[in-house]
Amino acid sequence: MAEHGTVGMYGNHKCRCEECRAANAAYQRELMQRYRAVGGRGEHGTPYRYDTGCRCGDCRAAHNEKSREWKRKRRA
Ligand SMILES: [Zn+2]
Ligand SMILES: [Zn+2]
Repeated sequence: MAEHGTVGMYGNHKCRCEECRAANAAYQRELMQRYRAVGGRGEHGTPYRYDTGCRCGDCRAAHNEKSREWKRKRRA
């Protein structure tokens, strides 16, 4: 059995208690830091790649496009 406060409990057992959410958040933060350290992850020209640390022209454009859309949706 997985214990609370672990990523496995959050991911595999879908527990959303405070401890498991905190463990998942810490894990995601760590992952992002790792991706950023290597210059991003995924395809260039995607918001995901931008979020993981790439700031090339393609990724910036994808990010801008996404935030524009997000703002539009929020207004609607
Ligand atoms: Zn839990
Ligand atoms: Zn890029």
